[in-house]
Amino acid sequence: MINIIEKTQCCGCSACYNICPKQAITMEEDEKGFRYPIVDEEKCIDCKLCEKVCPIISNQKVENKPKAYACINKNDKIRSESSSGGIFTLLAEEIIDMKGIVFGVAFDENFNVMHKYVENKEQLKELRGSKYLQSDIKEIYKQVKAFLEQDRYVLFTGTPCQVEGLKSFLQQNYDRLYTQDIVCHGVPSKKVWQKYLGNSKNMKYGKIKNINFRNKKDSWESYSMNIEYDNYTYNINHNNDMYMKAFLQDLSLRDSCYSCHFKKFNRNSDITLADFWGISKIKPKLNDHKGISLVIVNSKKGEKLLGKIKDKCSIIEEVDIDETIKYNKSFITSAVQNKEREQFFKDLNSNMEFEKVVKKYTKNQSILKKSIKNGKRIIKKILRK
Ligand SMILES: Cc1cc2nc3c(=O)[nH]c(=O)nc-3n(C[C@H](O)[C@H](O)[C@H](O)COP(=O)(O)OP(=O)(O)OC[C@H]3O[C@@H](n4cnc5c(N)ncnc54)[C@H](O)[C@@H]3O)c2cc1C
Ligand code: SF4
Ligand code: SF4
Ligand code: SF4
Repeated sequence: MINIIEKTQCCGCSACYNICPKQAITMEEDEKGFRYPIVDEEKCIDCKLCEKVCPIISNQKVENKPKAYACINKNDKIRSESSSGGIFTLLAEEIIDMKGIVFGVAFDENFNVMHKYVENKEQLKELRGSKYLQSDIKEIYKQVKAFLEQDRYVLFTGTPCQVEGLKSFLQQNYDRLYTQDIVCHGVPSKKVWQKYLGNSKNMKYGKIKNINFRNKKDSWESYSMNIEYDNYTYNINHNNDMYMKAFLQDLSLRDSCYSCHFKKFNRNSDITLADFWGISKIKPKLNDHKGISLVIVNSKKGEKLLGKIKDKCSIIEEVDIDETIKYNKSFITSAVQNKEREQFFKDLNSNMEFEKVVKKYTKNQSILKKSIKNGKRIIKKILRK
């Protein structure tokens, strides 16, 4: 029997599913709602292609000298709709100007997330903005390959494991393929997301029209979850929104995200995008609190692409990469699994309301911050005595 990989290591990239010549693999959800490959032994011919393209097994090593930049898109509207400094849109527009195709993550009609491709700038708004759950890759790698075989330019964007999954699947380099990954905290499952949406008290306000995980109305740092219903807009700071609490307190992530193989200094993508969380310490004057991107250039191709968008940036400044990583640990370090994660998922699968489950297992950030402040005040008083 073909045994692709240990379950806790599998990142769900779907490279094995895309490569199988006999359609012997299906991606099926487990009890936590994460997709894993299941092999139909009747159909399997033991060709081992699935093992060959699995990025966890093949673990491709890269030698490069990444460079880091602080970047902001000049276009304020696009920047406000984007999670960080709006650099994804600029890279994507460049590819579309080359008559290329852009692959990224969008919502479907039920607000689940999936990879899709777009061919014009208007459609890019579907891909704009972070959606904090694992996207469904389906047969996207095959589509990327088909466009590359037609000599089209392609920009593929996704999590680091999806970029590695695609590169493994392709098994060869293509000059016209550009890849952009992100600094990745990790991904919750579709089940967690659907429980959040389905249990929402706001359902009485009608159908959902739009969701933004990173509304910057208050500021980029103090972003909020924003859900527009027919007759109501829900807008709650990420520290108080139940979905974001479970995500940021590491309860709801996929197993593989706690020992991620792709959080590394030398990456296989051309460009890596992130929030420039250390900006107030490194270059305080650049922070206007509307969002700034940390852009890591990993290859010559990536450097050329960034060069092409420089006139469309209000800020593009090289920074010390080691300094930036100090303030963005997710770049190279995996999240630490919350000790109560298993119990969290058990309760999630019971009849308990989503909000109650999350409240049971999460600390209140504002209370936490207050007690840290109080603690500091007490220490200062003691030191003054
Ligand atoms: C799951 C996830 C975790 C992240 N964790 C961190 C982190 O810990 N630290 C940090 O600094 N930055 C993190 N980011 C990246 C950050 O949120 C921004 O996406 C990034 O800085 C790009 O911002 P932008 O303003 O240039 O473009 P935006 O328009 O905001 O970004 C759009 C890009 O994000 C991609 N994208 C959106 N949702 C997903 C998804 N579910 N899976 C894969 N790709 C997706 C789109 O395909 C597109 O390429 C994370 C993003 C995601 C999706
Ligand atoms: S060994 Fe070959 S046929 Fe069997 S599941 Fe893997 S890719 Fe498919
Ligand atoms: S190729 Fe991806 S989905 Fe398949 S076993 Fe490996 S990590 Fe899991
Ligand atoms: S943390 Fe690692 S395994 Fe998890 S989604 Fe991100 S890149 Fe993939």
